[in-house]
Amino acid sequence: MFLLLCCCTGGTSATDSNNIRQSATNSCCMRERTFIPPLPGSSTVNLPTIHVPVITRATLAAVGDVLIHSPVYKDAAISKGRYNFNPMFDEIRKLTQEPDILVANQESMIGGSELGLSSYPSFNSPHEIGDALKMAGVDMVTLANNHTMDRGEKAIRSALAYWDKLHMPYTGSFRSEEDAGTLRTLTSNNITFAFLAYTYGTNGIAVPKDKPYLVNLINLDKIKADVEKAKKLSDVIVVSMHWGTEYEPMPNREQQQLAQQLADMGVQIVIGNHPHVLQPPAWVQGKNGNKTFVMYSLGNFLSAQEKTERLIGGIGSIEVIKTVTGVSKTITLKHPSFIPTYNYYRNHRNFKIIPMSTMTSSDRLKNAAQQLEKTKKHMSAFIPDLAFR
Ligand SMILES: [Zn+2]
Repeated sequence: MFLLLCCCTGGTSATDSNNIRQSATNSCCMRERTFIPPLPGSSTVNLPTIHVPVITRATLAAVGDVLIHSPVYKDAAISKGRYNFNPMFDEIRKLTQEPDILVANQESMIGGSELGLSSYPSFNSPHEIGDALKMAGVDMVTLANNHTMDRGEKAIRSALAYWDKLHMPYTGSFRSEEDAGTLRTLTSNNITFAFLAYTYGTNGIAVPKDKPYLVNLINLDKIKADVEKAKKLSDVIVVSMHWGTEYEPMPNREQQQLAQQLADMGVQIVIGNHPHVLQPPAWVQGKNGNKTFVMYSLGNFLSAQEKTERLIGGIGSIEVIKTVTGVSKTITLKHPSFIPTYNYYRNHRNFKIIPMSTMTSSDRLKNAAQQLEKTKKHMSAFIPDLAFR
């Protein structure tokens, strides 16, 4: 006579995703096949059910604004109407390909050259920057920016069609109500991430009343509803916020209040963009004692802006650990880190994104070593143990 050990009883909690149910069922069924012979002379023994925790990890990283001013696309031109941005990523690609999931803020819509390219203040960028981001390892682009509406619905539709062609998921700008209602998720190492994106505004260009899906505006009721929906379909919620004051090195009160509200909603990761300079990341505690990792501003990743602070950006990252024990699940965030990058160019040519740790001389950036130290000090203002590479 054999004793059968099985942990198949019990329901799943409300926060469990399908994904979790799947893994709980799998581990359970493996245990069904475990037989333990009875002790000699004994009858049935009631053993306590032992749940072995199943732990998986994934790294989520993000880069700042990709803002394609005309000098950037002119530098990428290879023939009339054709562009290649890949060389600009040659020195950074190894690092951008490393994280399990990488998010980029495509600030200028990639409407393509057929619509006529344009620069500040009304951007339209070549499709090919999308190819370069894909090759650099970007897995998700956020499109809710103050420049989303620059060239209207036509440029948005052309951009979204190109992202679809590249099989690059996007969020924050959509082609229809139905598209906007389809939550974007990515799963890595059995951890499902949901992606949402919102902007404070669209530079005074009205979003058509009957087409609010063209760009997500910051609206707490909407964000709350989206987050609640995302909780049912994912393990980790990542919200991109286009917010803050341009060129301000520290988050303003409004950013801090919004970060608190997002933490209270149970959002785990916030990716901030728009100030065009770096603002230090922080841990924000939500009302239920949960911890939210807030990257207030990741600065510019690729642009033709001037002044050193606007050319220093970086890759912010966080490790997500999912522990499933029986039917319960916990998500822990660990090891926040940052890789400072420098957006090099000279005379509006030879644009390159360079890891600052490799810039040992002043060849491409004056006082590069001091600039790197200054950046590290600034970025660790709220998280003293922030790791750098
Ligand atoms: Zn912006």
